[in-house]
Amino acid sequence: MLTVEEARARLLSQAVPLRGVEQVPIGRALGRVLAEPVVSSIAVPPLDASQMDGYAVRAAELASTPVTLPVSQRIPAGQIGAALAPGTVARIFTGAPVPPGADAIVMQEATSAAGEGAITLTEPARAGQWIRRAGSDIAVGQTVLAAGERLLAPQLGLAASVGCAQLPVRARLRVALFSTGDELVMPGEPLPPGRIYNSNRTMLAALLTMLGCEVQDLGIVPDRLEATRAAFVGASARADLIITSGGVSVGEEDHVKPAVQGEGALDLWQVAMKPGKPLAFGHVRAVPFIGLPGNPVSSFVTFLLFARPFILARQGAVLREAQPLPLRAAFDLPRADKRREFLRARLTPAGELELFANQVSSALVSVAWADGLIDNPAGQAIARGDVVRFLPLSSLLW
Ligand code: AMP
Ligand code: MG
Repeated sequence: MLTVEEARARLLSQAVPLRGVEQVPIGRALGRVLAEPVVSSIAVPPLDASQMDGYAVRAAELASTPVTLPVSQRIPAGQIGAALAPGTVARIFTGAPVPPGADAIVMQEATSAAGEGAITLTEPARAGQWIRRAGSDIAVGQTVLAAGERLLAPQLGLAASVGCAQLPVRARLRVALFSTGDELVMPGEPLPPGRIYNSNRTMLAALLTMLGCEVQDLGIVPDRLEATRAAFVGASARADLIITSGGVSVGEEDHVKPAVQGEGALDLWQVAMKPGKPLAFGHVRAVPFIGLPGNPVSSFVTFLLFARPFILARQGAVLREAQPLPLRAAFDLPRADKRREFLRARLTPAGELELFANQVSSALVSVAWADGLIDNPAGQAIARGDVVRFLPLSSLLW
């Protein structure tokens, strides 16, 4: 038996990053991995800017308030004002450049009407107040994104804010995906007696898409050695990684092992965890292969713990370990499993964790319900109020 960490380290030691780099328009870069740092050629904001709707003033002229001053100009966002004439104020709006000569913004709420062309300022102003200085968000020459960062919404927004229209990204990992099992039927087909719907195909394809992979969906492969072997050979010709679900147990209907051995090399690992346990790793004609267990919850959890970091490493992403949150259990688990267990749990409004009642590895209802996984050490019973380690799905899915 391998520990989770040993299995992950073994996998990662084999994760050779893809080499290709391409330029893509920023609107199509979601989920890709940045190949080179993004360095800003501009200051953000480009000029001192108002943070409020109000009046640009000389703070010294507001030494005794209330004071009524003429409004000498109006500066909406996007326009450059003239130098502020002494003894006057400028009407100004949020985001507009502060005119030369002004050194503070008085918010609209600290003024009162004083008739045509003038305004009464009711409170004194501190020099610099409500002014966002040029370059205070981002300086010229500042590295805003490092190579290896994954481009999700915040990173794309940031790249856009410094004017990037194209981004250099790593090549997309092409992942061939197939499910094994003669019992499997695709949604949309009638369900004959003894058969089940194929949930892993849809779920794993979605997980891969969320990681920015190009999914090559090879569907369901029948439980026959020749068919399984042919599927692997076909996949190895056009993919950077092959992922399968099912068929990695030791039953006589499990053909993944002999098929891969016939065309490459295979290790079958028993990982000391629940759900999950059997995990296959190997190569088919030099293309890496990860065989996930067939039970959908096991497939899901082993994908997140093993396939995901492997995929991110091959895409050249800088791996950031999901940090477990220490949270209190709102439940009792008197009899813990003798293996390390990843329990499906949800946050209560009080910030504690409740457990999904049915933790069997076939029941995807637990995964769809959960906010995350409790990483519970082997044999450790949990009593209400105990602090446990919680891995939010939000830090594992993307
Ligand atoms: P296996 O690893 O092939 O022995 O499968 C273990 C269990 O998972 C069996 O009950 C299978 O019917 C089920 N299973 C395998 N593949 C899938 C799949 N793609 N979707 C849903 N259940 C599956
Ligand atoms: Mg099977």
